[in-house]
Amino acid sequence: MKPLNADLHCHSTVSDGLLSPAEVMRRAKSNGVELMALTDHDELGGLAEARATADEIGLRFVDGVEISISWGDDQTVHIVGLGVDPANAELVEGLHQVRSGRDARAARMAAELDRVGIHGAYEGALRHAGNPALVSRSHFARYIVERGHAKDVKSVFDHWLAKGKPGYVGHAWATLEDSLRWIDGAGGIAVIAHPGRYRLSKAELRELFGAFKDRGGRGIEVLSGSNKDDEVREFSRIAREFGFLASRGSDFHGPGESWIDLGKLPDLPEGLIPVWSQLV
Ligand code: AMP
Ligand code: MN
Ligand code: MN
Ligand code: MN
Repeated sequence: MKPLNADLHCHSTVSDGLLSPAEVMRRAKSNGVELMALTDHDELGGLAEARATADEIGLRFVDGVEISISWGDDQTVHIVGLGVDPANAELVEGLHQVRSGRDARAARMAAELDRVGIHGAYEGALRHAGNPALVSRSHFARYIVERGHAKDVKSVFDHWLAKGKPGYVGHAWATLEDSLRWIDGAGGIAVIAHPGRYRLSKAELRELFGAFKDRGGRGIEVLSGSNKDDEVREFSRIAREFGFLASRGSDFHGPGESWIDLGKLPDLPEGLIPVWSQLV
């Protein structure tokens, strides 16, 4: 049987993507995606538009979200929730709390960047974000590129915004427990996003997977736009060992700003249980 072309991780202008929710759905459809989720950062505001467009163009749709959590020694980890009820009060309120810290963090980031010669970054990032509760490092990166300090978004992260760089400011996001309680309470399935992107040792990663599973987490992105081939093999092994459902998500943010386009990841390796077997 031909594997389903599922893409269960991407962003719209409602967080730090470049396309509107409707545009994301149309692009997914024309790229051959058969099952699509929108997973904006800490925000559910794009789901109604995405679902309406998906219905109109005949694309199966899953409500999603990507929650920022703090883990261990000031590490940020992302947990994707799939199949959540966007009207669930505890989820809505929890995400509101998570977002409320972004504005003050942005002001601190801008102050740090100002000291290394990048001026006006708060206003600049806010112009890209459109909403202080949604302002993210991606919006700072776009402003810094626009001002000619760097050639692309990736090099902005390498020079200024990654942990340890001058514009990086630590932040207390949600806890792992919060994110799992909110997702589970809203009827969704929690998935560890892009496991290859955390600056954690193998042992620390296993600690994260164990804690996630113990608290009810169920899935892992075996296929992510940012997972390399050896990581795909490694996270396939992890999925089998921990009994995780396997997810596939591009983490698409927009044309020219992403590792991979919607629906273009390879198929899941044999023998894994796709997370969508529990969603549809
Ligand atoms: P924030 O939630 O404000 O910390 O911003 C995190 C976002 O920055 C991620 O969701 C990505 O969209 C983007 N990002 C993080 N690291 C990189 C990178 N190395 N290159 C490009 N974008 C990145
Ligand atoms: Mn992002
Ligand atoms: Mn992420
Ligand atoms: Mn993402």
